[in-house]
Amino acid sequence: MHFCSVPLRLDSYSNCQFGCQYCFSKARGGAFNVNRATTINNSQLRKRLKRAVEGKPQGATEDFLQRRIPVQFGGMNDPFGPSEIKKSVSLETLKTLAEFDYPTIISTKGTILASDEYLSVLARGNFYVRISVAAVDPELSSSLEPGVPSVNSRMNCAKKIAAKGVPVSLRLQPIIPDYEQDAERLIIDAANHGFKHISAEYLKLPVETTAHSFAKLQKTLPEIRKFYAEQNATRVGREFILPTTFKKPRLINLKRVAEQLGLVFGFAENELLLQNNFSACCNASDLFLRDANYFDFNIAGILIKQLHLGEFKFSVTDNEWLPSHSVFSHLNSKSRVPAGNGSNRDAWTKFLKDKWNTGPWRGGPASFDGVVNTGSIDEAGNNIYRLDC
Ligand code: SF4
Repeated sequence: MHFCSVPLRLDSYSNCQFGCQYCFSKARGGAFNVNRATTINNSQLRKRLKRAVEGKPQGATEDFLQRRIPVQFGGMNDPFGPSEIKKSVSLETLKTLAEFDYPTIISTKGTILASDEYLSVLARGNFYVRISVAAVDPELSSSLEPGVPSVNSRMNCAKKIAAKGVPVSLRLQPIIPDYEQDAERLIIDAANHGFKHISAEYLKLPVETTAHSFAKLQKTLPEIRKFYAEQNATRVGREFILPTTFKKPRLINLKRVAEQLGLVFGFAENELLLQNNFSACCNASDLFLRDANYFDFNIAGILIKQLHLGEFKFSVTDNEWLPSHSVFSHLNSKSRVPAGNGSNRDAWTKFLKDKWNTGPWRGGPASFDGVVNTGSIDEAGNNIYRLDC
């Protein structure tokens, strides 16, 4: 939330039935109790949307809904995996969201959306569909994404969705280093299947090497850990990340390929988010969803507003939108700060100010590519940064 413009996540199933080898959502848990397979309560979702529309939000999540900040459907688990064929739980979620014309970003690798029943709901709602594909050669793809519909099926699914006038994005996630030619091939394929947008992000290696899924990943990509060590990958949180100097030129080349084909390109690496010239992080949903707002009372938002100046000061006004209920219980435990006696706004501003004035760790200004600390401070004692590129 301190850098994301669309922080609301919605999941319809507590477990993902696909088994991508690079995915560690199972190891990390999340909002659900992962030991028990549960599904979303769609009538509860409807009540929450209704309260938001009627101006009676209960809690920060419903403040976000009232503000019509897009929800990311499939935040932790794929909503359109094999269980959906029998249960149709996500179909009901789509119908509820469509009823409120709620701006929704769907993330999936499933292809059930190409069936008529789903297509008709998508066409009448306010949806933007992101279809994820690992950027590797076709042989490796089936090993890395077992149980997932083939890339061809995903492409054909996207084509049917696009034919209904629903915008579709290809999410190249993850790109496996040294498979950039496959990423280019997939972008060209996407342009031929009606996609409007591409986002791209390199593989992040988990620190959990003992996890069952890591052993499988290591079998498919035996040299991967050595490669990351040789490239001086750095640990950020629970992941190893390739250096920007490795990723940036390759991603700029993919952007060039995408734009030549008339597609919008989004850098999905956190440190490259300022390179995107639209409001909604890497996904560019502000270009594709209607009647939506974006959360920008965060570090990325403060920086973006001053990009044209080339110099960044900690500058917030009373007009910045923030949920009226406390947001702190929604942050992960490492990001939580005691709200103290001040207002929600005071506590949030203090939280951002602390991030602003610390080192270049995740989400602080200097964690963004090209933003450097000038060593000077402003009248209020906050660091001044500048753009150095
Ligand atoms: S589909 Fe998504 S959530 Fe499911 S295993 Fe693959 S990456 Fe993980």
